[in-house]
Amino acid sequence: MIRFENVSKAYLGGKTALQGISLHLPVGSMGYLTGHSGAGKSTLLKLIMGMEKANGGRIWFNGHDITRLSSIEISFLRRQIGMVHQDYRLLPHLPIVENVSLPLIIAGMSMKEALPRALAALDRVGLRDYANHLPVYLSGGEQQRVDIARAIVHKPQLLLADEPTGNLDNDLSRDIFNLFKEMNALGITVLIATHDLNLVQQEPSTCFVLEQGHLR
Ligand code: ADP
Ligand code: ADP
Repeated sequence: MIRFENVSKAYLGGKTALQGISLHLPVGSMGYLTGHSGAGKSTLLKLIMGMEKANGGRIWFNGHDITRLSSIEISFLRRQIGMVHQDYRLLPHLPIVENVSLPLIIAGMSMKEALPRALAALDRVGLRDYANHLPVYLSGGEQQRVDIARAIVHKPQLLLADEPTGNLDNDLSRDIFNLFKEMNALGITVLIATHDLNLVQQEPSTCFVLEQGHLR
């Protein structure tokens, strides 16, 4: 699904965030990206999303080189990816179901078409009953599940998560990781960036460890 070939990224001002990264995330896999804060995890995810551009190397998404895409091609790429954030990023004035339907509305779908799909996505994360609540009435763990529902509502091939349990305690974190496994079982390739090794170590699947911009 994703292949990096000798990828490097330096930010304006010269700060090197990634150096000589080569990795392969197979279709259907459940991958982890670990490393301390500042190791380059967010940068690596942003390169996959086309939110940052690599300075060197090649990145392949389903066999397509995504290192030098036009903005139209980048928007097409992003429709195939769902992104989960540490801080949920729900719009506070919109009911849960409308938050979840946003990616579909932005892609041009009518509200009438989008709502049943958003309800189905909420069902997947066990929150259908909360559809008409505003985000403020939900706990942190519930808001994170809403963020996941929003990330999968457009049926992406790839689900990326950047420290998805960074604001949650251990039990809730485990629930969220189990939810990612359920999404993976549906056929979605998953890549989770986390510094929480307790959650990762029990998993034998693909694990990439970043140390100061290098893959160990
Ligand atoms: P992580 O997600 O593992 O915490 P990041 O990818 O956020 O790591 O950061 C990697 C390095 O790049 C850090 O040194 C960080 O300060 C730097 N960095 C990240 N984003 C930017 C940016 N927009 N401009 C300059 N430096 C950045
Ligand atoms: P995260 O956990 O998402 O990496 P950060 O606090 O590291 O959160 O970064 C927040 C935002 O600031 C990100 O968009 C990141 O790219 C940017 N950023 C991080 N480090 C730097 C930096 N040294 N200079 C400029 N922007 C940075």
